[in-house]
Formats: sequence, C-alpha cells, structure tokens
Amino acid sequence: MKNMNCPACGAPMSIKHQFVKMVTCDFCGQVSLMTDSGLDPTGRTAKLVQLPSKLYVDATGKLKGKAFRVMGRLRYQYESGFWDEWFLTFDGDKPGWLVEDEGSFTFYMKQALTSALPAFEAVAVGSTIPVANQQVFITEKGRAQIIGGEGQLAFTVLPGERVNYFNGTSGNNLVSVEFSEDEIDYLVGRPIQHEELVVDEENYY
Ligand SMILES: [Zn+2]
Repeated sequence: MKNMNCPACGAPMSIKHQFVKMVTCDFCGQVSLMTDSGLDPTGRTAKLVQLPSKLYVDATGKLKGKAFRVMGRLRYQYESGFWDEWFLTFDGDKPGWLVEDEGSFTFYMKQALTSALPAFEAVAVGSTIPVANQQVFITEKGRAQIIGGEGQLAFTVLPGERVNYFNGTSGNNLVSVEFSEDEIDYLVGRPIQHEELVVDEENYY
C-alpha cells in the first residue's frame, strides 16, 4: 500500500497493489496514470451510475473458494445495453476479470495470444476460427465503448476508449477477444454460478 494524492483535487489515495497502473479518484473522478515520478492526470474523468450488484470496489469474498479483493471496474456500453468488468486480485495467483451482464457472471483470465488472429472485419458469427491453438466458434461480435470506471486497474484503458470484440466458445470454455486502441486482449473463462461467488459481509465497528 502506497499513499499518494490525486493530482487534480489533492484527495488522498492509497495505491493498493504493486501492479496498479491506473487509478480513478473517489472524490473528483479524475483518471490518473501511475508513472515513475508519481500520478499523472489524464484529464479524463470517470463517474459511474451505481446500479444494484453484489460486488463493489474493495469488496472481499471467495470465488470458487479462492479469496479475492475487488480492485476496480470498467463499464462497457454496447448496442443492446452495457456490461461491467470487475477487476479481481487473488493472493498468490494471477488477477482476473469478473464480467457482470444482466446479473450473470463469467470469470475470465487473460491468456497469451500465441498466433496471429484473423482481421476483426473478417470474423463472422457462426464461423469457427483458430485463436491461440484453440478452435473457437464465434457467437457474438460487436463494438463497445468504455463509458466509466472506478477504483484501480493494472493496465490503462481510458474512459471513452472504443473496443471491437468477439465472443465464442471452445469446448467448455468461453472465449472473448477485445481489440482496443493499443492492444488485443485474449480472455478465456467459465460461467460462474451464483453460489460460487460469495461476498463477505461488510464489517461495521
Ligand atoms: Zn481527485
């Protein structure tokens, strides 16, 4: 934990994880990047309309029996609504994303893209394409925009950024590929049953 101040409003901020690269101020919404010399404001702000969810930033709990902490989230808007991606860290394991879409959850972990992908434009729903040695049946393809975020993230995705994405299945796995301005993220996941996601009760003293 490292204590810093928001470069826009001066509010105190505690950087919670060594891998944090981007933070959103709880008070003014300024999105700042972690640099070697401190926090660098981006001039963009991220405020979210809070909607009912069992998760929140700083929540702790267990996902399939493994203890987690919610570090932050991003909200994506697409043609038929929006989804939230909660960024979770685990003790002694890689972080991951819990995607919440209309009350259902899917847990994804980032994987290495070991081979080139077809161009986004060439990917068709209903076709099967190779993604990093897996054959993926494409179920959905679209464009989304990040409309807000909160908390702390281990990489930089700025509010307003647009992404192209496609989703598919490979055996029992769900596959999601997001093409953002600077990178391609390849995520492999599984649906999470409600009883597999246990959020700790808040402690009141
Ligand atoms: Zn601030």
